[in-house]
Amino acid sequence: MHKQQPRPGILDIVPYVPGNVDNTDYGKANLASNESPLGASPAAQQAFRDIAAKLHQYPDGAATRLRQSIAEAYGLDPKRLICANGSERLIDLLIRAYAGPGDEVLYTEHGFLMYPICARAAGATPVTAPERDYTTDVDALLAAVTPRTRLVFVANPNNPTGTYISASEVRRLRRGLPGNVILVIDSAYAEYVEQKDYSAGHELVDNDSANVVVLHTFSKIYGLAALRLGWAHCPDEIADVLNRIRGSFNVSACSQAAGIAALADTAHTAAARAHNSQWRPWLERELAALGLAVIPSAGNFVLVRFKNKEQSQAAHRHMLERNVVLRPMGAYHLSEALRITVGKEHENKACIAGLKEFLRGA
Ligand code: PMP
Repeated sequence: MHKQQPRPGILDIVPYVPGNVDNTDYGKANLASNESPLGASPAAQQAFRDIAAKLHQYPDGAATRLRQSIAEAYGLDPKRLICANGSERLIDLLIRAYAGPGDEVLYTEHGFLMYPICARAAGATPVTAPERDYTTDVDALLAAVTPRTRLVFVANPNNPTGTYISASEVRRLRRGLPGNVILVIDSAYAEYVEQKDYSAGHELVDNDSANVVVLHTFSKIYGLAALRLGWAHCPDEIADVLNRIRGSFNVSACSQAAGIAALADTAHTAAARAHNSQWRPWLERELAALGLAVIPSAGNFVLVRFKNKEQSQAAHRHMLERNVVLRPMGAYHLSEALRITVGKEHENKACIAGLKEFLRGA
């Protein structure tokens, strides 16, 4: 008897390993998953609880009020917004819709792991372009385009490097790409960025060229990672395509209610941004003072490089013993590095104290 085989590419996928493997151990400081140290807005938590009385009802399949709230908060047209179970699901839907066997999905050397995972799941070929100083290199991306390229993914700022490219660099990338290649600007960390030359990219989403999509998530600054909520800003044509293939009730009622409340609580979002603006530079300074190589970050995390893989693994173990979880980077071919999410004040201090102790002993 012959066994069924999955489609080509699927067995080439290395499954995604989350940063905090046991996320139910709340005794640990989880600085491994880029979660918000301030948690979700109390109003979002209440909106989530209120749904308990209505669990028998299907959610709004079109997420109308949620899209309206996003549109108002970001100054966009709600018709061009698609919500889904995390922005990772939108990465998957975009690739499934536009790429298949023989097609290439291009992204940067240390780009987010879901790009190659979703490309392979669709039978397409993931292709990487080198970075310069851990930063997206527009020329290298353009040089890697072939007649088979269907989509280009740029996380800006990028995870796990934390680096960003300016709005004019993103425009130069778009101008240099063939018109039929979709540029997906993954703006998961956009809400943290303070640099004046940065843009999340919404001004590039237009119906004439219809080849730019911008992704956002509620998992980071809005602190709703548990609910799996993300959204895409698309040209009409692409929104129409995604609406055909997404699930009919693809965003839960809890996620919709909490998302709306989170957007309305602008004071909470501002507090999360202010916390990050205070503690990320603090972490960067303290890590540098320990003699570690820190990549300058625009997000809510920093990538720090050790002497080699062995030292970074030892540091990871040492910190685990102190109940501080950092993110190993082997899956990103950065095995000499650890990624550290900005945490609460005492977590950041415990992180630096633990690393200081580790390096003294090393
Ligand atoms: N894009 C980037 C660059 C990310 O870092 C993440 C989360 N790690 C995502 C997308 C996915 O976020 P989510 O599915 O939680 O919305």
